[in-house]
Amino acid sequence: MLTDYHLHLRPDELDATPAEHFTEANAQRYRDAASERGIAELGVSEHVYRFAQALDVWQHPLWCEFAHDDLDAYCDFVRSTDLRLGIEADFIPGAEDRIANLLEARDFDYVVGSVHFLRDHALDTDDYSVWSLGRSAEEIWREYFRTLGEAARSGLFDILAHPDLVKVWGRDRPVPEGDLRRYYELAIEGIAESGSAIEVSTAGLRKRAQEIYPAPAFLEMCLEAGVPVALSSDAHRPEDVGADYDQALEMLESVGVKELCVFERRERRLEPIGAGVL
Ligand SMILES: [Zn+2]
Ligand SMILES: [Zn+2]
Repeated sequence: MLTDYHLHLRPDELDATPAEHFTEANAQRYRDAASERGIAELGVSEHVYRFAQALDVWQHPLWCEFAHDDLDAYCDFVRSTDLRLGIEADFIPGAEDRIANLLEARDFDYVVGSVHFLRDHALDTDDYSVWSLGRSAEEIWREYFRTLGEAARSGLFDILAHPDLVKVWGRDRPVPEGDLRRYYELAIEGIAESGSAIEVSTAGLRKRAQEIYPAPAFLEMCLEAGVPVALSSDAHRPEDVGADYDQALEMLESVGVKELCVFERRERRLEPIGAGVL
């Protein structure tokens, strides 16, 4: 059994509308790509900040620019298909109750939790970038992994997305020297205690990082702590569904992962990856 749960039915551009992308024909393109790659379990997790209801959680200027669509219309659309219903929700420290209210009011199969921001500054976009503030790599990495641990501890999320997103820019941004486990350690206790799953995501291979999220050393620390794995591509177009899963499966095999998380109405079970699917 292979999964792809962290999928977006549309690109991140502001002009990508639900009318164009939340359609049965588009869902079928994702299904076709998935079945070609032997992926049986498929779900979508649109960005929460594309929906007007996200402004009840946070009113960052970037969200104000993007939050236009109706979250319940999205949920209704996905429920009218055979795709699992997920959402990619940002962790916003201090807004835990408001995030919980938004999530609990809908019957998601799973919630993918992401740390895209450190306070008001973004890790992975040029707008509002945390990298333009003159802070050191060490400081940003420390704050990122502390926040990730806090995100896990909040208990809001079933899956922690792209767990070392801070590396997204690769060598285009400063990277701390030496053994990076000193940063992973800042998050690992929170992750272990939370009971949430860690995402192995091939999206990093399509970014400047040119690496799977998380780094093997971080994944190994998660496994030692008993954290289960969810596998996703974070595709924003059908062509990227299950992208580079051969590399992800090789990595999972090399660290002894034999099962993947499967979700239904926020209940988790583990299914064997299965042999020779690709
Ligand atoms: Zn993300
Ligand atoms: Zn995503």
